[in-house]
Amino acid sequence: MDFEDTPEEAAYRARVKRWIADKAPAGAQGGRKPATPAFIAEAKVWQAIKADDGFAGIRRPKAWGGGGGTMMEDIIFTQEEEAAGLNYGVFMIGIGMCVPTVLAHGPDEVKVELVTPTIRGEKIWCQLFSEPSAGSDLAGVRTKAVRDGDGWLINGQKVWNSFAHRADYGLLLTRTNPDKPKHKGLTMFWVDMHDPAIEVRPIHQASGDSEFNEVYITDLRLSDRHRLGEVDDGWAVALTTLMNERMSVMSSTRKPNWEEIMGLARAVSGPNGGLLQDSGFREQLADWYVKAEGVRFTRFRLLTDISRGGEPGPAASVGKIINSTQLQEIGSAGVELQDQFGIIDDEQVSAMEAIFQTAFLYSPGARLGGGTDEIMKNIIAERVLGLPGDVRLDKDTPFRDLPTGVR
Ligand SMILES: Cc1cc2nc3c(=O)[nH]c(=O)nc-3n(C[C@H](O)[C@H](O)[C@H](O)COP(=O)(O)OP(=O)(O)OC[C@H]3O[C@@H](n4cnc5c(N)ncnc54)[C@H](O)[C@@H]3O)c2cc1C
Repeated sequence: MDFEDTPEEAAYRARVKRWIADKAPAGAQGGRKPATPAFIAEAKVWQAIKADDGFAGIRRPKAWGGGGGTMMEDIIFTQEEEAAGLNYGVFMIGIGMCVPTVLAHGPDEVKVELVTPTIRGEKIWCQLFSEPSAGSDLAGVRTKAVRDGDGWLINGQKVWNSFAHRADYGLLLTRTNPDKPKHKGLTMFWVDMHDPAIEVRPIHQASGDSEFNEVYITDLRLSDRHRLGEVDDGWAVALTTLMNERMSVMSSTRKPNWEEIMGLARAVSGPNGGLLQDSGFREQLADWYVKAEGVRFTRFRLLTDISRGGEPGPAASVGKIINSTQLQEIGSAGVELQDQFGIIDDEQVSAMEAIFQTAFLYSPGARLGGGTDEIMKNIIAERVLGLPGDVRLDKDTPFRDLPTGVR
């Protein structure tokens, strides 16, 4: 395992640092904030600056507007961008997940139309996969696409679709053949989110924000050029998207972690003086520290593999499950430490710009999105530890014959 950059990586990091210091727009305030129109406008300005100098979509091919770089360069750039407070997250689904899917499964004329504007930040994407009865069991989607002359007629409902209310394009997973087993009768399409047949209804969250949505599709007509991959082979296309979703988890971190809660604890008194003298709190802090270090070293191991030309494997799931659980524990503890002031989640007023309140409200979602804790544990058990697989009784049954309340 390597703990340091290679000489080439160190040189690249130094170049990126200088470039960011030189080009960062004055007053830019990235970070994980609600995707308001003003925030998106700011994100688009930064993305265009990056694209002009080959730092947008770094590991996507130059022919389609990317930087033609390596995954390691992409990770280093993202780390430096985050450190400079210029990470916006708005293009993560488009560039991180949908672009590689279009590049792997779309015809060239569609790549020309979709990929370069996405990498330049001109187009925002959403992922239209989950449905009310298909989340962890994603192959159970019921949104129906049927042949309609040379094209397709699509009806159905999606849910929890991040950024759908701001998106220009969507990646849509549909059922085309209910006579085949559930993984074998799916087909993927890309859609124009401004089509009147698509209705987006934002979901109001506990935080007061609306970051994800319900999406209703009624008699949407698509030409066959909207299809990605073969008919009934949409599961393979979805796996490309999901694999890239896991990779994107690799390069970003979320705060607060043990350092931030230690900072907060310094200001709080306990029964024997400062809270940092309290043995119960110290024990909990040590536990968070150990887990954070474990994740950090797991990340080093994965980065070492990537730096040597490998791909991030299922071990990334270890980081996802520990990070999101820890985020919830620390968010919750931070709110509690602030006593009655914990209820105020205004970043102008609350301690440390309300990072604990934000984490408290957001973290339950982090344990579900991109694969729930239990699904991550299944992946770790089966693919990291080599334990026997989860019982999958329905994998050979035609989808039409699976028991359900409504058909
Ligand atoms: C913040 C956030 C953003 C999201 N963004 C998107 C998006 O942009 N696009 C999109 O399509 N979807 C999105 N989702 C949806 C997300 O993919 C699903 O919520 C997730 O896959 C879980 O599916 P579900 O909600 O249907 O829960 P279910 O799959 O119904 O799970 C319910 C419970 O059962 C458990 N469970 C299910 N199967 C098993 C099993 N085999 N073994 C053990 N336990 C199991 C789960 O762990 C969970 O606790 C997002 C969700 C969140 C929270």
